[in-house]
Amino acid sequence: MSQEVPIVIEKNQEDLKKDAKIRELWMKNICDHDKHAKFKIKETYDFIIVGAGTAGCVLARELIHGIPNINILVLEAGGPNVHANGLISLPCTWFKAFRLFDCDWGYVTQEQKMKSHVNPIKEVTVKKGIPYPRGKVWGGCSSLNAMVYMQVSRPYFFVIRGQAKQYNDWAAQGPEYKIWDWDHCLEAFKALENNSRENPDEKFKQLHGFNGLHHVQDPQNGAYDIMSDLIDAAKNLGIPYNDDFNGERQNGVGRFQTTNEKGRRCSLADGYLRDALKKVEFHPGSEPNGFGKVVAVDVRSYSHVLEIIWDEENQKENIAIGVRYFCNGNVREAFIAPKGEVIICSGAINSPQILMLSGVGPKENLEENNIKVRKELPVGKNLLDHPGCCFIAKSAPNTIHHWKS
Ligand SMILES: Cc1cc2nc3c(=O)[nH]c(=O)nc-3n(C[C@H](O)[C@H](O)[C@H](O)COP(=O)(O)OP(=O)(O)OC[C@H]3O[C@@H](n4cnc5c(N)ncnc54)[C@H](O)[C@@H]3O)c2cc1C
Repeated sequence: MSQEVPIVIEKNQEDLKKDAKIRELWMKNICDHDKHAKFKIKETYDFIIVGAGTAGCVLARELIHGIPNINILVLEAGGPNVHANGLISLPCTWFKAFRLFDCDWGYVTQEQKMKSHVNPIKEVTVKKGIPYPRGKVWGGCSSLNAMVYMQVSRPYFFVIRGQAKQYNDWAAQGPEYKIWDWDHCLEAFKALENNSRENPDEKFKQLHGFNGLHHVQDPQNGAYDIMSDLIDAAKNLGIPYNDDFNGERQNGVGRFQTTNEKGRRCSLADGYLRDALKKVEFHPGSEPNGFGKVVAVDVRSYSHVLEIIWDEENQKENIAIGVRYFCNGNVREAFIAPKGEVIICSGAINSPQILMLSGVGPKENLEENNIKVRKELPVGKNLLDHPGCCFIAKSAPNTIHHWKS
């Protein structure tokens, strides 16, 4: 598949220099420590993050820069997001990226009947074998998604930020949900966002961020002429024009902003994980027994987490002390330091799977599969998603190729 589009992406020299510097530090201080240990390093982590996807990349960066003197292990089942002949970073080849064997989990649907979310009296049949793409690569689904800039999609349609009321409804469920109200979420959205819109008006400035690491841009000038024709046609039908779908109104006709930087995909691995990897410090002898500590994020690719390791000595509570994972043909274990945390952010399908394999889930499912029940919870229920389909129409030659650069 990757042979079909022979594109080579070149990194700019500055990036390469930074990468080389980081790699050199890693080789010296971390990767080689088994073979040429000049100092002892303790193999426990303050945080173990499972999944270098959208959430995992942001978490790794915010934790390493936000809390002094910590180390983080990120275990990712896929590999770095730089291969595949540039299919990942080129916006126009996004639909090829998720068919790549080594970047996608390759899930397909099982046949099932369910109530339509739009019209609850209608029953919908989901057929067997519909591809269900999920990123298995640094950046997770943000490395193979459609790059439409949105922050939390509503359940049934491909729409941008939710409306303020939806967040406030979540928050109204109880005091522990308070941080999910619109004001808190907007603050978080703005902190992540680096919007490059030229001459934003005051309203746009109130609702958007300009200093985050997730780059967002307007579509390239003009794009295809046919887009303007479509927009004009919709306006003639009375559909209002919307130049900011993440603004006050989510409806209307217009062009999406996309999560791109200078015309290339900006996944969360590009924005956040890359920045997290820049922090590498070594504190010799800072730990008990003469151990040194590497303050850094250690990303282990091709490391498939199998389950959480629980503290068997504590029968009263379920305390996670590490994870068991599969890497290079071996089952390995990684542990957290006292007061450390295991954070599962492996996506909508795999997070419930890991929890259930670890004994957290519906009792009957776990017992059916001979898994010891640690905590009975409705894990894996209530997954909602929207179907995606595209319409392809043939056009007469020379009618829609007016790309204005
Ligand atoms: C085809 C497609 C198009 C989309 N289009 C858009 C769009 O245009 N705009 C938009 O905003 N959103 C879009 N989305 C949705 C968006 O990308 C996701 O909602 C978001 O990336 C989910 O983030 P996450 O961190 O929960 O999971 P993910 O990004 O899926 O990250 C999970 C990570 O965990 C890793 N992992 C899973 N299991 C294990 C394991 N056992 N061990 C180790 N690692 C593991 C995975 O490999 C992955 O890297 C799209 C999604 C898809 C699939």
